[in-house]
Amino acid sequence: MPDRSLSSKLFNAAKEVIPGGVNSPVRAFRNVQGDPFFVQRARGCRIWDVDGNEMIDYVGTWGPAILGHAPTAVIDAVTQAAKEGVSFGIPNRHEVEMARMIRDYVPSVEKVRMVNSGTEATMSAIRLARGFTGRDKIVKFEGCYHGHVDSLLVAAGSGALTFGQPDSAGVPADFAKLTITVPFNRPELIEEVFAAQGHEIAALILEPIPANAGLIFPKPGFLQLLRDLTSKHGVVLIFDEVMTGFRLAKGGVQELTGITPDLTAMGKVIGGGLPVGAFGGKAEIMDQLAPLGPVYQAGTLSGNPLALAAGLAQLREMERHDGWNRLDQIGLTFENAVRDTLRELGRDLILNRIGSMFCLFFREGVIDNVDDVKQCDFEAFRKFFWAALDRGVYFAPSQYEAGFISLAHGEGDLAKTAEVTCEALKIALA
Ligand SMILES: *Cc1c(COP(=O)(O)O)cnc(C)c1O
Repeated sequence: MPDRSLSSKLFNAAKEVIPGGVNSPVRAFRNVQGDPFFVQRARGCRIWDVDGNEMIDYVGTWGPAILGHAPTAVIDAVTQAAKEGVSFGIPNRHEVEMARMIRDYVPSVEKVRMVNSGTEATMSAIRLARGFTGRDKIVKFEGCYHGHVDSLLVAAGSGALTFGQPDSAGVPADFAKLTITVPFNRPELIEEVFAAQGHEIAALILEPIPANAGLIFPKPGFLQLLRDLTSKHGVVLIFDEVMTGFRLAKGGVQELTGITPDLTAMGKVIGGGLPVGAFGGKAEIMDQLAPLGPVYQAGTLSGNPLALAAGLAQLREMERHDGWNRLDQIGLTFENAVRDTLRELGRDLILNRIGSMFCLFFREGVIDNVDDVKQCDFEAFRKFFWAALDRGVYFAPSQYEAGFISLAHGEGDLAKTAEVTCEALKIALA
């Protein structure tokens, strides 16, 4: 077992001054019943903890690090931008460049507004949809995560047509009543909801490929059904592509599937590792925002020059290196290695992968929604996680999280990962 004593010391100190010792709950490693390591530095696909242990990283700062950590192009762009000033609060040229680039990549986005996190993006998109339609209700899917927005931290009621329940203390039940939560991949239920309440619904928001409950694929025809239902009832269709946007393809899931939302929430990869979010879509809807329209939305640091310079540099690097095609190749190599291992061990665990995102579920059968994920063998997952980490491969510390591959994951790294995965699976499944 690697020595993690400095990490332990830091974690104990952190717990005295930060709730749970972390600034975002998943980092506390609760799902794998252990303590997190503290990072010293990261470069490429590697990350080093404060005790000097080296790991191959498949978390990639939860998605943004698509080129790998600390890419030279991004560091140079941020450094250059910083020399001109770190924040202005008045328009700067990076904002126009970024907006144009997003529009080029994601054609459904005719106009875009930059914010500082994915949470802000979904929160603002919901308000905008409500302001645009003059309706209050929204529909979301169980297992889709959209940040810690009040009206999106809502669990399902007892049936598809009953009120949602707050999914966090502090979310008023009266807010939750406006959110209808439906299981993913159940066409009959969403049809029922729209038939009964379609005229009261402002927006349907979803991760078109849910990646916050492992990694779940929509059934054939499901996204098209959602597009048809929302169009028919005058409901704003919001794709939350904070995770998938600029990662699975230049234009995200909407490019891959050809299904076009009205609004899109973005984040993660477009920030190049700095705090960024964005939301955009049809000009007709976006023009309802202040100062043009009545829907208020603002941000002191929005359009921050460092964040946008980082994001622009990252996307240009991706383009220069044919990044998305290369990631598909790297992802396929990764998948083949894991499948070979599973075959060798005679185990039929579910491995879902698309492009550079993956999730290995500790169960057999199919995964259609979060209820299926809840049937996983979490104890086996926990053993797998620690066995891999102890051998120098860092996978996300929860069965509910997807893994991320970057352009910096080379052949040697993938070979070592395959070897470690094999050993860790043997331990987990023994
Ligand atoms: C990460 C994520 C968010 C929230 O973004 P933050 O920057 O953490 O606020 C929203 N939606 C999806 C799909 C995400 O993966």
